[in-house]
Parts: sequence; structure tokens; C-alpha cells
Amino acid sequence: MRRALLAAAGGTAVSAAARRVARFRPPEVTPDPADLDGLDADAAAERLAELVRIPTISSRDPGEVDTAAFEAFRQRLTELYPRTHGALDREVLGDGALLYRWRSGSDEPPLVLMAHYDVVPVAGQEWSRDPFSGQLEDGVVHGRGAIDDKGALVAILEAVESLVVAGFTPARDVYLSFGNDEEVFGVGAQLAVETLTSRGIRPWAVLDEGGAVVSGIFPGVPGPAAVVGLAEKGVLDVELITTDAGGHASTPVRGGAPARLARAILRIEDNPFPARLHDVVLGMVDALGRHAPVGYRAVFAHAAYLRPALAALLSRASREANALVRTTVAITRLEGSQAANVLATRALAHANIRIALGETVASTVERLRRVIDDPTVELQVVSGNDPSPVSRADNEAFALVNAAARSVYPDAAVAPYVMVQASDARHFSQVCDSVYRFMPFDLSKRELAALHAADERISVAALHRGAGFYRYLLRHV
Ligand SMILES: [Zn+2]
Repeated sequence: MRRALLAAAGGTAVSAAARRVARFRPPEVTPDPADLDGLDADAAAERLAELVRIPTISSRDPGEVDTAAFEAFRQRLTELYPRTHGALDREVLGDGALLYRWRSGSDEPPLVLMAHYDVVPVAGQEWSRDPFSGQLEDGVVHGRGAIDDKGALVAILEAVESLVVAGFTPARDVYLSFGNDEEVFGVGAQLAVETLTSRGIRPWAVLDEGGAVVSGIFPGVPGPAAVVGLAEKGVLDVELITTDAGGHASTPVRGGAPARLARAILRIEDNPFPARLHDVVLGMVDALGRHAPVGYRAVFAHAAYLRPALAALLSRASREANALVRTTVAITRLEGSQAANVLATRALAHANIRIALGETVASTVERLRRVIDDPTVELQVVSGNDPSPVSRADNEAFALVNAAARSVYPDAAVAPYVMVQASDARHFSQVCDSVYRFMPFDLSKRELAALHAADERISVAALHRGAGFYRYLLRHV
């Protein structure tokens, strides 16, 4: 009897699990048709190519910034998008951040669309063509900034220009916030936040660069996924420093500064931060896992109960997936002796750390100390900020981003995710609970790999769909 009862109970549990897996399917929603009227894909690509040719390279050293290039870029925008510049108010903040206001006549909280027009340098990279030639060839725009982030800036302006031409007025105010120093952690976007805050304006929603439409990043899901960042990891720069008396290299000592530094680095490498499945990543598993074949779905449907196993699975799936589930440490710079035959008096390693949600600068430094376990290795925090707050995914604003993405990418599964890079959006997440990080472009793995690297490029088709995404957003806001 007892055995029969247990078997029956077991059977119920199994069939409940089976039902859960059967129900674990994507929602059946027919996407709205894409809104590409009034957009000219080829003309947009020409304009992007022209803006890529203006080398707005940012640098932490103000003396190295070509201010004339930035000035030329701002000037060229007014000529390429004349109707936008006629209809919207424009302010230049600080050293060149742009803030536009498109008045609606309504006093509803506004939508803020963000992008940045500075780019990272190309030094030391092997480009197959001139990175600032802005070549438009075989349906592809080549050059530094083609995606990051002049691509997004152009897609936004193409959408706005087309709607202004059509006599459209948005249902709520729309601000365009275009930073000039995002790549060097500058203050441009912060000034935009301060400007709006000082006027008593709190955004309804904010959209900045971040996730994209990508394929093959999630285990078991081959199709395209539009991943929308709800939060971003913290960034922490730490220097590990060891010192010694120095001396002639002909009479070295055991356990000198470089050796102790190397040991510290290996201890960090051998003791990675724990992999954990944060709620946002769980939301991603929930959204994307529904598109997986049944074997995977059996796991993903029970993700909430399987957090440790899934965190382990993701940490092994790819570099990108690993970065989603844990704090990562990259040793980027090493310094030792300045001469070939002199013992180092100081050895230094620079660690660039991306802090997972749920951890902080303080808890990260504390764990590093513990792992290194060597009082002769000094840890100096150069700069650090905690992970951003998490935006909501259960509201109208997120639903709108979702619908806009599906209008131009009807086959894509839309999912929340954690952005592993830092963006200007973090400034807005202090004043708004609906800050989304999404670049509305479908990018191949190779195109993704070219961000901040050689041969950055975007297809004209992706740029066109990106503009369609913003058009949908503006028309339904
Ligand atoms: Zn960027």
C-alpha cells in the first residue's frame, strides 16, 4: 500500500513536470508589421559612411582629442538631418554632448533615446581597409563606429527625420542624448541626466546601446535572440603591486616581486568568482529556453529549481555566457623592471574586473585579497563602480521595446539580459527604473567580434531594420 502510494506520488510529480515542459513554449503573438515607410536604406548607409569618415576618437587625455573632428561631426549632423534640426530643440552640454528635445505638447514623462558619437582608437589593430574611409561596398558600411555607436545614432536620426518629414508629433516628449565621451567613461551622459533632473524631468523610459539580435549564443537555441539589457555589471580597475629591493640581475633572489605577482595572478585564475544565476539571467533562460528543443526545455522549464546547475552549464557554454553568470577578472597590463639586466623594484599587474549583479566593489576587493592570500601583494583600487540597478521587465515600456524589436525581427525571441560591458545608460538608471540596453541590429558573431577591434562593419539591411525599430518605438510611444 505504502509502496503504491509512493509510486502514485512519484507518477504525479513526473506528469506535473512533463506538463510544465509541454507548456514551456514561446507565447503565440503575431508581431506587428515592420514600419519601414519613409526610410531609405541606401541613403541612410551613405549618411552613416560619411559620419564614419569623421574620426571622432576619444581619449582620456584631453590633449589627444581632435576637437575639430567632434565639431565637424556635430556640424555635419545638422546638414544631414535638416528637418530634425528644424523641429527639435538642441543643446550642446559640456565638451560636446548633444541633447535634443522633440516636443509633444504632452507633459507625460519623456522617452530618452541614447547613442554616442565618439569611437575607440584603431592603433595596433590590423584592418583590411582604412578604418576611417567609410567604404560602402556590397551592402556593407565599413569603418570604426559603423556599429558602435554611430550606427545606432544614424538609425535613431533616420527614424526621427522620416517622421518629422511626415508631419508626425510623438505622444510624449522624446529626448535624444548623444554622448561625446562614452568610450572613456566621460561625463557627457551624466550632464544630460543632470540637465533633465534639474528641470524636474524623470524619463518614462531610456534606451541605449547594449544587446543586439544574435544567433547561437544560448545553448540549444539556434535561432535569433534579441537580448535587451536590464542592467549592467560593475567595472572595477585594480592594480596588484609587489615591491623588492632590486639589484643586479646576475644575482637574483627567490620569490622576488615578479614571482610573487605571478603567483597572485595564478591564484586569481585558479579561483574564479562563483557562478550564480541572477534573476535577470533566469528571466533570459525563461524567455529563450522556450525556443529550445524538448530535451533542453526539460531543463530550462525548471530553471528556477536548477540555478546552480544552470549557472555551471552557462559558465562552460561560451565566454559570453560565462561573463553573464560571474564576476570576471582580466589581467590587462603587466609591468616589471625597466631594464633587461636590472631586478624589478616593483612589479605591477592591472586587473580589469566586471562585477556581477549582487556583488559590490567592496565584496570583490575583499574576495581578491582572500584569494591572493599574500600580504606582500598590495591591492590598489584605481576606480570602481557597483553594478547598476535592474530595470523592470513587467511594464509597458519593456513591452514596447519587445514589440518594436519583433516588428523588424519577427523570428527573434526577445529576452532580458545583463550587459557585461559598461554603458552611458548607467547614469540614467539612477533616476529611471526603465532603462533598456539594446542595439536593434542583427549581428553575426564575426560582426560582434569586430566591436572595438579591426574591421568593424554593419550591413545596410541591419541598419535599415534598426531605423525601423526606432520608428516603431516613436510611433507607439
Ligand atoms: Zn558604444
